[in-house]
Amino acid sequence: EPIAPGFLLKYLNPAQLKAVQHEASIPLQILAGPGSGKTKVLTSRIAYLILVHGVPPAALCAVTFTNKAANEMRSRLCKLIGNEKTTMLKLGTFHSICARFLRMYSSAVGLIDNFTICDAEESKKLIISLMKPYKDYMVKHNILLTEGSAAVGISKAKAKGKTAAVVLKEAEEKDLKRRREYPVRREEDVKSIDRILAEVYVGYEKILQDNNALDFDDLLIYGVRLCTQHQESVLWCKHILVDEFQDTNTMQYELMKAIGIRHCLTVVGDPDQSIYGWRSAEVGNLGQMREDFPGTQQIFLEQNYRSTAAILRSCLAIVSEDTNRIAKSLHTTHPLGTTPFLCSFGDEKEEAGFIAAEIKRCVANMGGVLKWGDFVILMRFNALSRPIESALQKEGIPCRILGGHKFFERMEIKDLLAYLQLIDNPSFNPAFLRVVKIPPRGIGDRSIEEIAAQASKLKISQLELVERIHDGKVPDIKPPIKRKLVSFVKAIRALRALDEENTLPSEMIRKLLDLINYEDYLKKSQQDWESRWENVKELITFASEVETEGPKHDFSVIDADGNPIGPAEEQTILRQFLQSSMLSTEGDNETEDESKDKVTLSTCHSAKGLEWPVVIIPSVDNDTFPFYRTEDIDEERRLLYVACTRAQTLLYLLYSDKRQVAGKTKNKGLSEFVDDVKQKDDTLFTHDVPLFAPESRAVISKVLERPLPEEAEIKRRLAELDYEGDRVRPFFQTSNGFVSTVSLAGTKRSIMNVPLNPVN
Ligand code: ATP
Ligand code: MG
Repeated sequence: EPIAPGFLLKYLNPAQLKAVQHEASIPLQILAGPGSGKTKVLTSRIAYLILVHGVPPAALCAVTFTNKAANEMRSRLCKLIGNEKTTMLKLGTFHSICARFLRMYSSAVGLIDNFTICDAEESKKLIISLMKPYKDYMVKHNILLTEGSAAVGISKAKAKGKTAAVVLKEAEEKDLKRRREYPVRREEDVKSIDRILAEVYVGYEKILQDNNALDFDDLLIYGVRLCTQHQESVLWCKHILVDEFQDTNTMQYELMKAIGIRHCLTVVGDPDQSIYGWRSAEVGNLGQMREDFPGTQQIFLEQNYRSTAAILRSCLAIVSEDTNRIAKSLHTTHPLGTTPFLCSFGDEKEEAGFIAAEIKRCVANMGGVLKWGDFVILMRFNALSRPIESALQKEGIPCRILGGHKFFERMEIKDLLAYLQLIDNPSFNPAFLRVVKIPPRGIGDRSIEEIAAQASKLKISQLELVERIHDGKVPDIKPPIKRKLVSFVKAIRALRALDEENTLPSEMIRKLLDLINYEDYLKKSQQDWESRWENVKELITFASEVETEGPKHDFSVIDADGNPIGPAEEQTILRQFLQSSMLSTEGDNETEDESKDKVTLSTCHSAKGLEWPVVIIPSVDNDTFPFYRTEDIDEERRLLYVACTRAQTLLYLLYSDKRQVAGKTKNKGLSEFVDDVKQKDDTLFTHDVPLFAPESRAVISKVLERPLPEEAEIKRRLAELDYEGDRVRPFFQTSNGFVSTVSLAGTKRSIMNVPLNPVN
């Protein structure tokens, strides 16, 4: 066996090494706790398969949970195997991988190759329109089905692979049975909530089909269909590797099974970190895989490399409260380090003020060895960020929101993309409805309704209808629109011509901006038009990036011997661009320059798989952890565990005695998840802010593998913050300007008693 390049295997422990070198044809599960190097092992195994086993990169499929994780894996692999090989890998989320294959093999599963990918917002809009006719009926019969829960219900059915027809049949049978058991006394035959949901589902599927559109769940459904019914579409795959396997749903599992026909599969996961049950993830897939692939072997990793011993100990205490959990061992050779900080505040504003002041204090006390970018604030849900953002802003601390306001969901971006979608797929009526009014052309709602009615009567797309009206091929509708269509049809035809000439998307967007005078429109209609215009420019940058990446190697499919097979037809550059943007809406893509030094704000869910030197978790109270609307307490505990285990050297759990919830002040108290473990062992958390004594600094430097901070620099930075001698400036003030004496987790000790500056 050829010897693997030293750099690849040198830094792995024996269990990790065993996993990386594991026989390729024996299915493998790597099960281990957070920070034990699962993702690192997966990445190294990919490199090992390529460099040592000689597997062609294009024959490897690596699946990550988010686009961000895919990007990270890509950049790590670039360092191991070089850029050229890395670009040939089929690396991405299940959704993005499916989308690529479906474009190639669309006809095999009854799709047209210019299908549009419909994002969650668009799906929701469709569902809202479908539920309108049921509104009165539901009020009359006291049926409560919101659009949101209908969207979730439909998505759950799809994730399980249940078609609309099946769901409808089930609901009808249930209704029938109920009627037999409880004969209806009233005259009407009242539909059950399930039945209404099923009917909406049927309508929804029909609209998608009529519009030649797929939603995210469809990408998986058609992907599975393609891979199971047409094995030639998966012949290329010599090995499939899946990260975060505990959070795959049934369809994703089916897909993995179909792609991994040669039993060459590697999955890594941690049942303790399964946090997507609410989105139909099945942690049972781990057991299912062992059943479906007899002989599957398991490797356990037990050393945590991420966190200090003190942090790991508290995290394990929290997760161990889950009585259904299978205990596993996880240890670290890192030093104890600073005990996690637990503190309560008067309200969320004080909590936020503390966060901002504390971040500054940490940076100063570490002499700048810790930077803004080393801090993350992990929230249970996005709405908690508002007071924190303003506190950070007040202190002049730059921050960015991970997966927060998503770039591709912004109005101005959606406007422009909709024009291009309509060029690529004229049947996609949602795009037509959006752009026909941008800029406003005086076409009213009644005309729009009439367009929809006429188009569906003639069985043509709405765009086709207005073009016919414009050309005088069909009579104008009422209220008349022909006169108002001139500029719209002109713009559409100009864009269409550009697309036919294969004009680059960045150029098309520039032309589009001129054609519809978009800057003027923004200026007239939006107060914050300037920042929106910046986003428009950013979209052009994104487009040029897609263009320079060129046609992805991913599009050419090869067989097991590396020969090209199948319809390797290239997609138009416009279609590639649209696909990249639609898949970026999947929750996490960042368009902001990551190299900028900023504090990160993120939800706990989006932080999965990532790590930061300092983690601050606000609102660790009984309304938030567990989230008051949850159906699964254990999943909420695991979520807190996932959040805490992101921390490398410092961990802060904060909560406030009172918190404003939707305008009302509520008293929540410390989260039971933390309170329970604190009761058992009160050394797990401390009320004292980290002191940054020389030993603590040494631990932080060691764990992060960074140089020790310089004393002179620490002094300089502390002086900047006005900390003088032991007459310490209060490190945060309450909103009414008083020095805060916060109650430190019930002890009522003043934070002023804490010596803040051990240097002097
Ligand atoms: P999670 O469950 O949170 O996704 P994980 O098990 O995937 O965690 P990784 O992210 O792969 O863990 O690794 C955590 C950290 O430990 C990374 O910074 C990684 O570089 C480091 N690490 C992993 N293995 C080793 C090792 N053998 N030697 C040194 N550092 C390691
Ligand atoms: Mg990981």
